[in-house]
Amino acid sequence: MNLGLSEEQAAVRRLARDFVEREIAPHVTAWDRAEEVDRGIVKKLGEVGFLGLTIDEEYGGSGGDHLAYCLVTEELGRGDSSVRGIVSVSLGLVAKSIAAWGDEEQKRRWLPGLTSGELIGCFGLTEPGTGSDAGNLTTRAVREGGGDYVLSGTKMFITNGTWADVVLLFARSTDAPGHKGVSAFLVPTDTPGLTRRTIHGKLGLRGQATAELVLEDVRVPASAMVGAEGKGFSVAMSALAKGRMSVAAGCVGIAQAALDAAVQYAGEREQFGTSIARHQLVQELISDIAVDVDAARLLTWRVADLIDRGEPFATESSKAKLFASEAAVRAASNALQVFGGYGYIDEYPVGKLLRDARVMTLYEGTSQIQKLLIGRALTGVSAF
Ligand code: FAD
Repeated sequence: MNLGLSEEQAAVRRLARDFVEREIAPHVTAWDRAEEVDRGIVKKLGEVGFLGLTIDEEYGGSGGDHLAYCLVTEELGRGDSSVRGIVSVSLGLVAKSIAAWGDEEQKRRWLPGLTSGELIGCFGLTEPGTGSDAGNLTTRAVREGGGDYVLSGTKMFITNGTWADVVLLFARSTDAPGHKGVSAFLVPTDTPGLTRRTIHGKLGLRGQATAELVLEDVRVPASAMVGAEGKGFSVAMSALAKGRMSVAAGCVGIAQAALDAAVQYAGEREQFGTSIARHQLVQELISDIAVDVDAARLLTWRVADLIDRGEPFATESSKAKLFASEAAVRAASNALQVFGGYGYIDEYPVGKLLRDARVMTLYEGTSQIQKLLIGRALTGVSAF
């Protein structure tokens, strides 16, 4: 087993690190306070190829394997989780789903724009009444006389929602019960009948445009359907299986940032006449963070390796997401403890890390849902 990086992978990581240092790090606090990252960052992410990772060059992608994707995602997460989330959704959930499930026309229409950053995608699964129980979504897609579909319903907590040019939207198009009746559609966000409302007041990820989408008789052609009718839930679940690896990689980045900050601060701060790094209980906090970073990273890289080798990976992705998200919260909280009162104000980075980390145990399946997925895989019994 070789846990080292290839030269190419190490170069991708350096590229991402430099990008974060130059384009993201100087603005993080200002974007967080303003509750909006500078939208120009999306174009820059596209130019450097980070929005096209794992997508074929034929469609504007920059190729690369899933480990490279993880490395970039980790660095972005280390810099700013709001920016990381933009990539994880627009590339990870939307462009990658189009690449995997879309027909030739859909790939040619959407992928060059999404991979270059000219366009932004969002993923519309959650509704006000259905979060964890996504298969019971109620947004309707009614076909009119064998022609267009007319969509009606409300989507909640949609990352990139107010910025996006296209939404990969999940709606019930047949009367089949549960997730069996769900189909996926690519809906341009300027389609008449679609309105968006920014959700303000988030605990973390404040720089991200999170929105509620309301669809009132939104008309799309049948050619907007991604994959076969009634296969939409498979489209969503396969996107989330890889998406969880991306969230986990972002969490590794948060935990690494917490570690870096804690080590640096412990070396600078003095109490009781000596550096706080000399106090054993401070070293315990730091070593707990370090172990969480390594364990989360190894679980995450394993998922990337499985995907790149064409092996089953969904359960490992759930394990990585479950552990890494809880680890990121612990790591950020431990780092805040190292900072004492200074950790509680946003002149220092660790408070934001904790606020941003907290949602990672909630979205793309809560920690409880990951445990049910892992439990089902091991026992063969569904406890949902
Ligand atoms: P609920 O499902 O109501 O869960 C409430 C509690 O009950 C949780 O603790 C949960 O674990 C527990 N629970 C539920 N069912 C079970 C069970 N069977 N067994 C044990 N415990 C259970 N969604 C999208 O579609 N696209 C996005 O881009 C997107 N981005 C998001 C961004 C943010 C900032 C946030 C906060 C959410 C986002 N979401 C998005 C939605 C997110 O995926 C959901 O919030 C999440 O799936 C949980 O759903 P819920 O909030 O309705 O909680």
